[in-house]
Amino acid sequence: MDNFISWISASLLVAFLCYTVGASALYRRFASSVIIKGAKKHKISLTFDDGPNPVYTPKLLDLLKQYDMKATFFVVGTIAEQHPHILQRMVKEGHEVAIHHHRHISAWLLTPSQLKKEIQLCSQAIERITGKKPQFYRPPWGHLNVSSIVMASPYQVVIWSGIFGDWSLKTTTATLIEQLKSHLESGSIYVLHDNGDTLGADEKAPEQMIEALKEFIPYAKQQGYTSETLQELMKEG
Ligand SMILES: [Zn+2]
Repeated sequence: MDNFISWISASLLVAFLCYTVGASALYRRFASSVIIKGAKKHKISLTFDDGPNPVYTPKLLDLLKQYDMKATFFVVGTIAEQHPHILQRMVKEGHEVAIHHHRHISAWLLTPSQLKKEIQLCSQAIERITGKKPQFYRPPWGHLNVSSIVMASPYQVVIWSGIFGDWSLKTTTATLIEQLKSHLESGSIYVLHDNGDTLGADEKAPEQMIEALKEFIPYAKQQGYTSETLQELMKEG
């Protein structure tokens, strides 16, 4: 009996790992439908997850406006509903709004139908607030499960080509600036975080991230790079 229970436990664990970690690794490595980088010369995409945040997102929008850089915001649906005017400002200033989840929850903890609901509710909130249908979806923590690509359809799944630990105060502004500079190349998709209220993040971390961008954005411009929305970055040519 003990052996049987061990066998069942081991089988369940293997099944869970295939559904979660295994699927994430395989899709991110091999699925052509999962975007990790663009191809346009001297163009990058700055993308921001987990917002909007009433303190930091407007500051970030001011900075982007100052240098005429366009970004994509992967918003959490429930938070977006609390700050609709911030999403409206994003769209008005030429940025793109995209889907994170309706609540900030990992796809590893969701059944396929729960996952579909998270994506749909977030998409509906974005469309209701901005009047625009989103095109892209990035799962919280980049976690995909076996069903993610099918459940996300018709939205395209986007991960990133550069991630920097900007959600933690342990990553100093100086380190962040160095890392951002070292990833500067055509087609790079940067993931940063404009809200520190999520699990595992530091509330004030976006302040450091914005400080780092104050140095990185003019540097990138000087090197001939501009940031475009993902819709623009992924267009041919
Ligand atoms: Zn997130």
